This record gives sequence, structure tokens and C-alpha cells, in this order.
Amino acid sequence: ARVFSSFSRRLGSGSGINRLMTDLGSAMASGDLIMMGGGNPGMIPQITAAVQKRLLEIASSDEASVRFAGIYDGPHGSISFRREMAAVLKRRYDWPLSERNIALTNGSQSAFFALFNMLAGGFDALSPESENETAARKILLPMTPEYIGYADVGVGDDMFVSVRPLIDQHAPHRFKYRIDFDSLPINDTWCDPAIGAICLSRPTNPSGNVVTDEELARLDALARRHDIPLIIDGAYGLPFPGQLYTPVEPHWNDNTILCLSLSKLGLPALRTGIVIADEAVIDALASVTAVTGLAPGSAGAAIAEPWLADDSLLDFGAEIIEPFYRSKRDLALAAFKQSFEGLNYMIHDPEGAMFLWLWLPELSVSAHELYERLKIKGVLVVPGHYFFPGLAEPWTHAEQCLRLTYSQDDEATARGIAIIAEEVRSLRS
Ligand code: PLP
Repeated sequence: ARVFSSFSRRLGSGSGINRLMTDLGSAMASGDLIMMGGGNPGMIPQITAAVQKRLLEIASSDEASVRFAGIYDGPHGSISFRREMAAVLKRRYDWPLSERNIALTNGSQSAFFALFNMLAGGFDALSPESENETAARKILLPMTPEYIGYADVGVGDDMFVSVRPLIDQHAPHRFKYRIDFDSLPINDTWCDPAIGAICLSRPTNPSGNVVTDEELARLDALARRHDIPLIIDGAYGLPFPGQLYTPVEPHWNDNTILCLSLSKLGLPALRTGIVIADEAVIDALASVTAVTGLAPGSAGAAIAEPWLADDSLLDFGAEIIEPFYRSKRDLALAAFKQSFEGLNYMIHDPEGAMFLWLWLPELSVSAHELYERLKIKGVLVVPGHYFFPGLAEPWTHAEQCLRLTYSQDDEATARGIAIIAEEVRSLRS
């Protein structure tokens, strides 16, 4: 058999994200399984209509068609899109941005691959300025569980250090994770020199948690005090797409690297990520894009650019996205209440994104075994253990959790939840 390098093995077939996306691809193509696995967004009629309108406009103009498919953008991505993006964020939030603070990537997943490897890993270039640098740095995930897609992006060893959350059990069948500031390797007076950046998703995939404004302000202050970039993964959040069911503020300053995406709006196939950061980070990121892919794709920017000039990209959240997902979330919660009656189960407060994070404190098999059993019964979920990269010690909690996506058909979601309840009940007896 062909032998591959350690780089290839690291990014190889064993990764959770590869397994998840392979499951997702075949389930979306076959239609036989109840798809509560991957993070495919729902089909929102107003978004589909808006895309169709843009496609017709583009198709009927030579100039727009050429911009859509006929030219390479520079490695930072479409300059007019970046200019409009900076302008709308300045208008709405008074963030001091220009196009030089923005880079596009082929999906935000590519941005994380580049950013994490830029800010963590080996720092062995021995220039006079780097004399005091430590040999290797890591990305601090201040609160697990955290996004499965981060876990395998490091080209070096041990890319992450992460911390368990505090668990707030505030109502029957409900809990919420909170950042355990006392356990972070960074505080007011000290920071572990091996921390190269802090990263969190907000809303959090998988838990649906939304880190509060207070928690974020505290993390931001720590990051700035120790001159460590704070990466905020806003794939589901603010300023867009706005899959948020609890009121919070968007956040950016020149120590923040805000990663956004057109995907969860309903356009995942366009593979358009948008990174907002200081110019040095943006230029370094664009250099990685040039080497690995020449340029980011232009189609997403071409479709969405007019939605910036009239602010509609920012208004889709409150007007379309939030009500669509809130109603799906509520139906899924109602299905849980009905099907899980009498079982010992906990659901994380679903404050954002498109997931229910289920905690079964009495589960007698591993999360992975439950996933396999459910797959045989025709329901795809994601087992919890994938979402805890970088923990120093194994944690039984990780084996007691499942992530369920509620973005697809509501009736199928309710059926899926009933099948999960049946399986959990049969494991109990
Ligand atoms: N960040 C989070 C938290 C996600 O859930 C996802 C996709 O599921 C991504 C980033 C990457 O999305 P994309 O590459 O489509 O922008």
C-alpha cells in the first residue's frame, strides 16, 4: 500500500471532521438517513430567492459574469467586496476598518487552518527580536467542548491546550457551560508563555452556548494585557448570520481576529470565509492563501456584495435567520420533552447556532457506540468525544454527550429524537 508522510497521516482519514463531512456528504446525497449529524444549514426560501435573483443578475451581465468566474482575485480576495464589508461594519458598529483589515478565504475552515498554524507551532526563527520567544506555542481553547473542525488542523504536534467549563445546572433538564477563569493558563498577572492565541466559537459549536458579553470582555482584557490575539469564530454569530436566540453584542478591536463565513446563512457551497483583523495578520493570512490556493474563490463575494451596500447582509439575521432557526429549535425541544419523558437527560441552553447538545449522565456505553447504534437505526448524530481537543486529562462527560443538528426537516428531526429516546431507553434496561 502507498505510504504517506506524517503531514498526510496527521490530516488523514482518522480525523473527526473527515468522518463527519463524509457522513454528511453521503447522507445529504442518499436521503435515506435522518440527518442530525453535520452542520449543514437549513434551506431558507428567502435566502434561496435572494441567491437566485443575484445569479440571474450576474448571468445577464458580461462584466458580472467575468467577475464571478473569469478572473483570479488577489490573495486577499475581492477588493470591492472587502471595501464594502469594511464600510458596512464601520457604519453599523463604528469599527475602524478598511479593506486592509479584511481577507477572504475558501471557507472559514481554511482560515482556521492558516491562522492556527501561523500563531501556534514552532517559533524557531532565531532573529535578535525572537530571542525571548519560546520554542513552541499553542492555541488556548478557554472552554471545551469546542468545534470539532479545529481538532486536526495543526501540522505540528499538540496544537491545543483547553480547559473544562464550569457546569451550571440551573433548571430541570437544562445546563449551561461557563468559562472557568480560575483554571485558565492566563490571568491578570501571569500568562503561560506557550499560549500563542486564544480561540472560541460564539455561538459555540457543538453546545449552542453563547459566551456572555461579560465573559468575552474579560477574555478580551486578558488577551490584550498579555498581547495575545483573541480569535472569535463567528460562523453562526455576529455581525452575520445571526443564529442567536439570546441578546449579545458583536465584538472587534485590533487585538481581535474575527472569523466569519457565508456558510451558515445558507451558502456553504460557495466556500466563502471572511477574516477581520489587524493588517499584519491579514497580510500573513493572504500569503498563506497565495501559497496554498493562489486566491480565494470569487463567487461568494460576487453574489453577496450588493447585500453589503444596502446593509441587507446584516439585516438577514434578525429578519430571516433568527426566526427560522428559533422555530426549528423550539420544535426540537418540544420533541425532546415528549420523547424523553422519564429519562435522565440534560440539554445545554440552546442560545445560538443549530444544535442541541445532549448530556446523558447515566449512559452505559460510549458516545461513539451510541452513534454507531443510531446510525444502524437510520439516525446520524455526532458523538461528543470529538469536541474536547487539548484537554490534559480524559473527561467522562465527553463520553456522555451527543450533538444533534435541528437545521433539516422538522418532522424528520422529531422522528430522529424519538428513535434516540428509544435507544437510550433500551440501553437503560
Ligand atoms: N466554525 C464553526 C464553529 C463551524 O461550525 C464551521 C462549520 O461547520 C466552520 C467554522 C467552518 O465553516 P466554513 O468553512 O463553511 O466557513
